[in-house]
Amino acid sequence: MNPWSVKVSINSRPVRPRRATLVDMHVLLVEDDDAIAAPLAKGLERQNFSVHRESTGLGAVAAISATPAPNLVLLDLGLPDIDGYEVCRRIRATSSMPIIVITARGEEIDRVLGLELGADDYMVKPFGFRELVARIHAVTRRVGAQGEPEEPIVHLTGGLTIDNRTRRITRGEDEIVLTRKEFDLLALLATDPGATFTREEILEQVWDSHWYGPTKTLDVHVASLRKKIADPELVETVRGVGFRLRTIGDSSPRSES
Ligand code: CA
Repeated sequence: MNPWSVKVSINSRPVRPRRATLVDMHVLLVEDDDAIAAPLAKGLERQNFSVHRESTGLGAVAAISATPAPNLVLLDLGLPDIDGYEVCRRIRATSSMPIIVITARGEEIDRVLGLELGADDYMVKPFGFRELVARIHAVTRRVGAQGEPEEPIVHLTGGLTIDNRTRRITRGEDEIVLTRKEFDLLALLATDPGATFTREEILEQVWDSHWYGPTKTLDVHVASLRKKIADPELVETVRGVGFRLRTIGDSSPRSES
């Protein structure tokens, strides 16, 4: 099965300006399988990342010191020369840049994330494209200064502005004070306004990458968020699925531009 078959859907989505929160972010994509790398690179470029591809481990190590330096590395473990573990080790010898490992081998995750290699996160193939983008976002935010987005401001309908850098939400002059989770929830939905995020995706991204707890937590936070932003319809419930942000004036969000 082609693990990227799900990605057909992203190609039908236009890139909207407010998605450009990570504009000028340079992603080093290290993957030797062109059937995976090509659509992935294309998808990332549609999300305003600039993508540099390498298909070997040694190429990847060399590209770390290229100009402009990458802000984040997407690293496949199975490479034709030195493997992803060795690449990770060599990068970590000189740099703390965020690394997200792409693996088909879920059982080796402990080793990947452990002190030995120090990757920041991992994705097990096959994975959803939007989940990857959300994780890039999360890792970049966690790691901080590296890959500082040039325009971290997201404008939402109803006059809300999210500043991902300062983590402030404002409407006009007024600041709306949210809890950490409420902010993360809104910021996640705002990475792709109009798109439905499933409950599972949201729980994984906002609470913990491996959340198995009760999902009522999410409803409580959504209710609280709606109340605080005084715009109960901004966060729409998609019954039986999850949530999305309302996008007024965005009448054909799924058509190709
Ligand atoms: Ca590979």
